Amino acid sequence: MRPQMIVLLVDALGWELAARVPGFAANLPHRRRLDTILGFSSGALPTLFTGDMPSVHGRWLMYRRATGGSPFAGFGAIAMMPPRVRRSWKVGRLLHRLVRARGVQGYYNLYEVPRALLSRFDLAERRDIFAPGGLPRPSLWDTLAHRAVPWRAWNWRTPEAGNLAALEAAAGGDDDLLFCYTADLDALFHREGSAGGGVRARIERYGALLARLDARARARGREPWIYLLSDHGMVDVDTTVDVMGRLAPLAVRWPDDYLAFFDSTMARFWWRTPGAREQVRAALPDGADGRWLDDAALEREGCRFAAHDYGEDVYLLAPGRLMVPSFMGSQPVRAMHGYDPAHRDMAALLYANRPLPAVVSHLRDVRAFLEAELDALAGAADATHAGVAPVAGAARS
Ligand SMILES: [Zn+2]
Repeated sequence: MRPQMIVLLVDALGWELAARVPGFAANLPHRRRLDTILGFSSGALPTLFTGDMPSVHGRWLMYRRATGGSPFAGFGAIAMMPPRVRRSWKVGRLLHRLVRARGVQGYYNLYEVPRALLSRFDLAERRDIFAPGGLPRPSLWDTLAHRAVPWRAWNWRTPEAGNLAALEAAAGGDDDLLFCYTADLDALFHREGSAGGGVRARIERYGALLARLDARARARGREPWIYLLSDHGMVDVDTTVDVMGRLAPLAVRWPDDYLAFFDSTMARFWWRTPGAREQVRAALPDGADGRWLDDAALEREGCRFAAHDYGEDVYLLAPGRLMVPSFMGSQPVRAMHGYDPAHRDMAALLYANRPLPAVVSHLRDVRAFLEAELDALAGAADATHAGVAPVAGAARS
C-alpha cells in the first residue's frame, strides 16, 4: 500500500493534558513531549514550519514596534475621535478592513490594543505562513513545492468543522500529504480552563477523527502515516496581575516616556526619556508575579533580537498569573499560554503511528522529521512500483 502522510496540528493541545484523557489517540502509539518556545502561536508555528528559533525566523509576538511601513500608518489620527467612538466595534471593523486592504494576509487581531497607539506598532505576520514563500526562512511548504509533492492543507482561514470533514474526505485519496491546523481547542481552553467539559469533548472528538482517518485511508488502499502535533500547552490561571495599575502612579508614563505593549503574560517596553526604565523596573520587581528577562535569558530562549523589535526590556509573568487588563483583553480567562516553556503544562506533543527519532524533542525538530518522512514515503512509493511492475498480471494474486 502506497503511504499517505496525514498531519493534524491542534493548537494548544498540551502533552500533559492529552496524557490525562484515557484512550486518546490509541492508534498513535509513538509519543513525544515537545518543548515549545517562549511566546505564543505567532512564534511557535513559524518555528514548527521552518525549524528555526524566533530570533532566526524573525517572528515572535503578534505586535512589534513600527519602524516604517506599518499597516497601521496614519491610524494615529484616531486619537482625535471621542474615546467611546474610538473603542467602538464599528471602528474596530473598519480598521480591520483597512489593514486587510493594505495587504496583510497573516493572522492578527486588534484585541483591545488602544486604537490611538496602533500606529506605533507593526504586525510581524504579513503573509500566509501556511503557504510556500509565506515565511522569511525556508519552510516545510517550500520543500513541498520544490519536490512537487501533491498535498492539501486547511487552516484557520476556513471554519474548523468543514476543514475536518474535508480532511476526512481526502484521507486515502491522491495527495501524498494532508495537513490540517485547528485553533478551536485553543479558544475553548482559554474560556473553560483544563477541566472544561468542552475541552474534554473536543479532545475526544479529535481522537475519534484520528481513528476514522486511519480506517478510511486503509479502506481506500493507502497506508496512513498519521502525525498529531501541537504548538504549545496551556496553564490554568490562578491569579490576575494589574501591571498597568502598578505603573499608573509613576511620574513616567506611556506612551510619552516609554512605549509599552501589554500581552497577556508579558509587558514589553521601549524607553524614551531618561529614568523611565529605572522607575518602571522598580515598580515591577522580580518576584512571585514575574521577572525581567535579561539578554542572556532571551538568548537562551532563542528570542533575543538585536534591534529590539519586540521590546528593549521584557517582563514575563509567572505561570498561572494573567495580566488584567492587558492590550489583549480587559476580562480574565481561565487558562493562558505564553509562559516559561520549562513549565510542565506548556509542553507540546507529537504522536504518530511511525517511530519517532530520539532527536525530536522540540518544535524546531519537527520540520526536519517530517521532511525525512517525506523521503521515506518517496522511497516506499518507489519500492511499491519496483515490486509491482515486474510481476504485474503474473503470479500476484
Ligand atoms: Zn491561545
